[in-house]
Amino acid sequence: MLVMKFGGTSVGQTQAFSQVTEIIARARQQDTHVVVVTSAMKGTTNTLIEAAQAAAAGHEQPYHAARSELLLKHQLVAGQLIADGVERAAYGRLIDDLLRSFERLCQSIYVLGELTTRGLDVVSGLGERMSAPLLAAVLRAAGVDAVWVDAADMIVTDAHFGDATPLMEATCAHVNARLRPLLDQGQVAVVTGFVAATADGIATTLGRGGTDYSAAILGACLGADEVQIWTDVNGILTTDPRVVSEARTLPELSYVEAAELAYFGAKVLHPKTILPVVEASIPIRVANTFDPEGPSTLVLPEREVVGSVKAITAIHDLTLVNVEGRGMIGVPGIAARTFKAVAEVGANVLMISQASSEQSICFSVPERNAAAVVSALEQELELELRRHFIDRVRVQEHIVIIAMVGAGMRGTPGIAGRIFSTLGAAGINVIAVAQGSSEVNISLVVSEEDAAEAVRRIHAAFFELPTPQTSDLPLSP
Ligand code: ASP
Ligand code: MG
Repeated sequence: MLVMKFGGTSVGQTQAFSQVTEIIARARQQDTHVVVVTSAMKGTTNTLIEAAQAAAAGHEQPYHAARSELLLKHQLVAGQLIADGVERAAYGRLIDDLLRSFERLCQSIYVLGELTTRGLDVVSGLGERMSAPLLAAVLRAAGVDAVWVDAADMIVTDAHFGDATPLMEATCAHVNARLRPLLDQGQVAVVTGFVAATADGIATTLGRGGTDYSAAILGACLGADEVQIWTDVNGILTTDPRVVSEARTLPELSYVEAAELAYFGAKVLHPKTILPVVEASIPIRVANTFDPEGPSTLVLPEREVVGSVKAITAIHDLTLVNVEGRGMIGVPGIAARTFKAVAEVGANVLMISQASSEQSICFSVPERNAAAVVSALEQELELELRRHFIDRVRVQEHIVIIAMVGAGMRGTPGIAGRIFSTLGAAGINVIAVAQGSSEVNISLVVSEEDAAEAVRRIHAAFFELPTPQTSDLPLSP
C-alpha cells in the first residue's frame, strides 16, 4: 500500500501532469494498492483566496478574471492530455460547475462585504476539486484505471476553519470504507488534498500546504507501507544549495531531525502534518517529480537512523537581545519575567542562551519585533534597571542563527569543538551558542556578514569528505 502526494508544482502544467502520470503508472506496476493525493495546480489556491478577499473588499473584477484564468489553466491540460472526447466533455462540465459555484460564492461575499473563515474554506478548497478529477482523467487517458475521491467525504475534522484538526477515528472508518473497495479492485484513488469537512458536512481545510497532512492522514488510516511526498526538489538537503553548491540530498533522516529542521526554517515536512504517520511509524519518502530517478530522502523512526550532523540551516533577519547585570546572579524569576514580557508582545523566541555565571540572558527574536521586545523588557524590569541589578537591555542587530541538526550528535563528543575550531580558523566570531538538552541540535549566532561563509565552512568540515554514493538509492515500491 502506497500513498503518493503530489504538490502544486507537480501538477503545475501539462508537462508536469505527464511526469506525474508516468510516476504513478510505474508505482502501480510495483504495488497493487496506490492512493494518490493531489494539491491544487500551482498558484490556484492563492488565486482563489485573493479573489475572495477582493470580493469582500468590494471588487468584482478579480473573481471574474480568476474564473477565466482557472478555466483556461485546467482546460489546457485537459485538452492536451485527454484524447477521449467524452472524457474531456465530462471534465469540462465538472470544472464549469465548480467555477460557477466559485462565482456565486464570490458574489455573495461581495454583496455581504464580509469574508468569514468558514466561507474562505469553501472557496480555497475548490482548487483541489479541480485538480483531482483532472489528474484521474489524465491517468485514465494513459491507461491507468483511476477514480477521483473527494476527501471531504472521508476526512472528518473539528470546526477550526482554515486550520482544522482531523478526528482520526471517524476519519479512518470513512477512509477504509471508501478506499479499500476501490483499491482492491485495482483502481488508483486520486484524492483531493487540503480539504475536509466537519461531522455535519461543513467544508474545512487543513491549513496552507495541507496536502502533506491529507497524505499523512490517509497513510496512517490505511496502514500504508510508505507515504511519498513528491515535490520539486531532490528530497531534504544537507543545506541550502543556493548558499553551498556542494549541498546534497540526505538519504535518511529521523522524524525528530526532520522536525528540528522544520523549526529552524528549512523547507521540509511540517511536524504537525506528519504526526499521523510518525505515530504509526510509517516511513515518508521525499522525492522529486522532475527527477524521479534522482536522489530522495527517507524519513524514518529514529532507531533506524544513524549519522551525526545531518544538516545545516540558517535563519536570517534576527536580533539578539541581551539582559545583562551582576544583580541577576542567584535572583530567581528574572528569566521568567523576561520571557513573559517577550511573550506578551507576541515575539517568537528562536534560541535562548544563559551564561552559567548568570550575568546575562540572551535570546533571539525576529528583527521586526525587536523594538517592541526591548520596550516591554525595560518596562517589566524597570525597578531592577533603576537599582542597577540589571545594567541594561542591549540589542545586537542583523544576526543569523545557524543550526546544526542530527540525532547522532547525542553522545558524540567533539562535535561542538569541531564546529568552533572550523569557525575559529576562518576568523568567524561566534556571538552566542545554545544546545538543546535533547542534543539533536547545536545552534550558534553569527553576524549577517559571516553567515554564508560560516555555513560553507561547517558544511565543508562535516559533509565534503569522501562518502559512499548516496544518489543511487532505489525508490522503494
Ligand atoms: N493547495 C493548498 C495550498 O496551496 C494545499 C497544498 O498545496 O498543500 O496551500
Ligand atoms: Mg503547496
